[in-house]
Amino acid sequence: MKKFINGFAALGKDFYTELAPQGISNPYFVCVSQAVADELWLSEEWLASFEALQVFAGNIAPQGSQPLASVYSGHQFGVWAGQLGDGRAHLLGELETANGNFEIQLKGAGRTPYSRMGDGRAVLRSSIREFLCSEAMHGLRISTTRALAVVGSDMLARRETNETTAVVTRVAPSFIRFGHFEHFAYRGENVQLKTLADYVIERYYPECLTTHKLAANPYAALLAAVSSRTATMAAAWQAVGFCHGVMNTDNMSILGLTIDYGPFQFLDGFNPAHICNHSDEQGRYAYNRQPNIAYWNLFCLGQALMPLIEQVEGSSDAAQAIAIKALEGFKSEFPAALQSRMQAKLGLTDAQDSDKVLIEDVLKLLAKERTDYTIFWRTLSNAVANQNFEPVRDLFVDRAAFDTWVIRLKARSPNSKLMLESNPKFILRNHLAQTAIEKAQVKDFSEVARLLKVLETPFEEHLDCEDLAGLPPDWASHLEISCSS
Ligand code: AMP
Ligand code: MG
Repeated sequence: MKKFINGFAALGKDFYTELAPQGISNPYFVCVSQAVADELWLSEEWLASFEALQVFAGNIAPQGSQPLASVYSGHQFGVWAGQLGDGRAHLLGELETANGNFEIQLKGAGRTPYSRMGDGRAVLRSSIREFLCSEAMHGLRISTTRALAVVGSDMLARRETNETTAVVTRVAPSFIRFGHFEHFAYRGENVQLKTLADYVIERYYPECLTTHKLAANPYAALLAAVSSRTATMAAAWQAVGFCHGVMNTDNMSILGLTIDYGPFQFLDGFNPAHICNHSDEQGRYAYNRQPNIAYWNLFCLGQALMPLIEQVEGSSDAAQAIAIKALEGFKSEFPAALQSRMQAKLGLTDAQDSDKVLIEDVLKLLAKERTDYTIFWRTLSNAVANQNFEPVRDLFVDRAAFDTWVIRLKARSPNSKLMLESNPKFILRNHLAQTAIEKAQVKDFSEVARLLKVLETPFEEHLDCEDLAGLPPDWASHLEISCSS
């Protein structure tokens, strides 16, 4: 493997515990993302080697890597949860690429000092879901952590039943979360808090020291910059119909990446109040609440950064004022980002004031009829391309309502090319993942590979994979996705 750089490790022992992964016995490859391997300049020969398999299994630490589990805290379901940390993740270090350095992290390779009651393991089911969804989100042009590989083992872990285990190799510029900041802030460890913030600014947000409009206070600028990226991410989720499921502050990336794929789901029929996580009884993380939750989480980050913001401002009143200003951006940036994504879905190349109502009205129609969200947009795109609206009209019971709406769309001369590039044909529906998982559980990995192929380029037709673009079958409605992973 190439040379490792250990930037996070250089922060010092307050930020992590150094320890080697325990690994898994008799590992076997389940899937590899060639796209991520290429990004990391990993050669085909090496990927096919025994060494690669053992590295991805956590059985050997690559030369020069400094494996560690980092410590963080967080708010879970709106409540302060105290210390959490990488309970089943080992950071190996960073590799250099043409697009900057990427950290390599193993998930599921054994216990750490932060495992609490957990076994440090990840089951094959959730590992395949994480792998496929990471690459699907990337294919959808949504910022996300990536997944390089899943290796499986016949070792068992106890969940609702006994399940076989696996390790996912995750890849991202950084795995730092809002919760890393909350951890030191809560403990009043302002020196460590500053070290962490300075590291993040220097490595990932250098503009906070120079050109950012709040650069006079780099920590307020950091808060504003993270808010912007989070707004962009949340807008992309809403536009594509993605529900994260567990938007706890420890699952919020400081880089605005979608991170920690657990009970996520892409909407089938459009239900704005949809709750994808079976354990989320209150619906805190329902689809239509995600933007507000993102803002709530940013507020927690703001609170954590307050001591640093205040050190620069010199008074708590001034610090409050500038922090509010930093967070304020979200309130205009999120709707603007969403509006722009929705305009693209409608093929509108020039923005008009009336677009907002046009978008709202079609969403109301979809919600009323619970029309399949992805199929609607793709069928509409094709209708515009072919100038034949019958197939999309047929998706509605109240065709008159659709007719009235579509006249308004047609009057705006939608661009079908833009629509087909903005409305995916393929999303990772629960039943598709489930089918691939069940095959993988009997060591047939072909369906994972087939799904990966379409999800990497979800705007293309893939005419030989029409079966992956249809409505969910009846049995899919019984799939219950919980936090268990
Ligand atoms: P999550 O809900 O997956 O974001 O996890 C919340 C916390 O629980 C994190 O600190 C995880 O590292 C930890 N965790 C989740 N599952 C396990 C497990 N099986 N073993 C150890 N820690 C876990
Ligand atoms: Mg997590």
